[in-house]
Amino acid sequence: MGTFADFASTLERVHSTAGKNEKVRILSEYMRGLDADDAERVARFATGRASLKGSADETQIGYSMISDVIEEVTGLPPRELSRVYVKYGDLGKAAEELLSKKKETTLFQESLSLSDVAGSFEAMTQAKGKGSNATKKGLLKSLLLRANESEAKYIVKILTKEMRIGLVDGLVEEAVARAYDLDRGSVREAHLLVGDIGMLARSARSGELGRIRLELMRPTNFMLAEPMETPQEIADYFGKEVYADYKYDGVRAQLHKRGGEVRVFSRRLEEITASFPELVEGARLIDHDFMIDGEIVPFRDGRPLAFQLLQRRLRRKEGFEGAQSRAPVVFFCFDILLLDGGELYRKPLEDRRRTLERVIGGSPFGMAEMKAVRNSGQIQELFRSSRTLGYEGLVLKDPASPYTPGRRGKYWVKLKEELDTLDVVIVGAELGHGKRAGVISDYTFAVRDGADLRVIGKAYSGLTDKEIDEMMVKIKGLTTEDNGYFRKVRPELVIEVAFDSIQRSERHDSGFALRFPRIKRIREDKNAEQIDTLEKVREIYSSQKVTSEQ
Ligand code: AMP
Repeated sequence: MGTFADFASTLERVHSTAGKNEKVRILSEYMRGLDADDAERVARFATGRASLKGSADETQIGYSMISDVIEEVTGLPPRELSRVYVKYGDLGKAAEELLSKKKETTLFQESLSLSDVAGSFEAMTQAKGKGSNATKKGLLKSLLLRANESEAKYIVKILTKEMRIGLVDGLVEEAVARAYDLDRGSVREAHLLVGDIGMLARSARSGELGRIRLELMRPTNFMLAEPMETPQEIADYFGKEVYADYKYDGVRAQLHKRGGEVRVFSRRLEEITASFPELVEGARLIDHDFMIDGEIVPFRDGRPLAFQLLQRRLRRKEGFEGAQSRAPVVFFCFDILLLDGGELYRKPLEDRRRTLERVIGGSPFGMAEMKAVRNSGQIQELFRSSRTLGYEGLVLKDPASPYTPGRRGKYWVKLKEELDTLDVVIVGAELGHGKRAGVISDYTFAVRDGADLRVIGKAYSGLTDKEIDEMMVKIKGLTTEDNGYFRKVRPELVIEVAFDSIQRSERHDSGFALRFPRIKRIREDKNAEQIDTLEKVREIYSSQKVTSEQ
């Protein structure tokens, strides 16, 4: 039976090796010696997951619980933990350093096995309701008491889902292929189908990769669309008649039904069934078993509502009744992968759509609006009507194409309109996370409101590493107040940000926030006097088809 210490020391070696190929080799050699149960655990742990992807349950252990337990186990004051944490920006590494000063240990010093750790994670996941926090804490404490420093580091890394050792899912997948002498392409294919890396490793280890199929109640990766800029580009690319769907702005969802059992999964393959009971009811009215792909859209009186209304539902902040009246939804279906034990996903879209229409006809679910288009004029026209109705644009699909889980295979192409950009000034900065731990890379920015500046958002993507380094130097020079994690910055650096939409928000003093802000470029040609105003933000906000007030 595999020990957790071996796992930790293997990952340690993976981490200290720079080359991807070497990382894969080290992991695959280790995995070769494991049985199927341990192969499953290791693949999952190595990608920073404590449990199966697609299970509704997660360990739900936050930073504060982990810090509490580290303090208890080491007997060190909270001050010490925050000092070490700031040093690394990584709780796992902080745990490793602090655990070397561990005061308590358990009497029985039997080493931790992979199965012990998986069992504790499972028990954490199962702990629910009153007293569950105490149970989880107890479980974590006994793990950390038994763990050496390096084991503690990896336990914490898995629980915080922050592995950060340069071993992304793709490399673990490659290691699985190499460990069990399998063809890389078929392993990739199987992984996209099965969704969970642990299940993949188990099947590969047992020689059952070829038997992986899409299965009801187990989420598969979603098919994705490639962006294109103009109707002409799209018409030229396909060169034939294609289907154009409206592009709905909601939550992408995969709905599985088998008998009376219904489960809904998000694009990240997490279960979201409990947030949408009306989908469960709706599905039960259909006299078939199926796996359907579509978008959950907040919708009332024939029109889409603001996407943000769904966020509260996803977080389950309020009771179902309230949620349903504030954010009624329609599930717009656009694909079907399985039906009554039969596989449809390899069939052409044309056939799948016909089947889908037949299956959901008469149910409360909506069929995604679809029209056949063959030239750029038709695409343009439909794009306009999609925007007028409050949708985001179009997704154009090749009628002859199969459903390819997880792929942007250019069978689906999306066309959407970029909103205006805003020129804003940086007023604050934070240390980044993950790859950018310890680097100043999260910028808080503001627009002008008369003589004042009003914060409208934060962005951390869009710049190259070189630009980030240059910004860091400038920001250090402009810092007026440094609180360790956050620093106030004299407003001089102007950046141009793109975003998907503007929403009302209490979070910032402008009263607005940008959705998906990303930095387009550094505007060295502009100074803080010349940035955009709150007035312009208001204009863009009210010109949006869908606002958060609807
Ligand atoms: P984006 O979020 O801009 O990358 O666009 C891709 C997303 O559009 C998908 O993940 C879906 O959630 C969403 N989408 C909306 N309507 C459709 C549709 N009719 N067909 C496929 N995807 C759609």
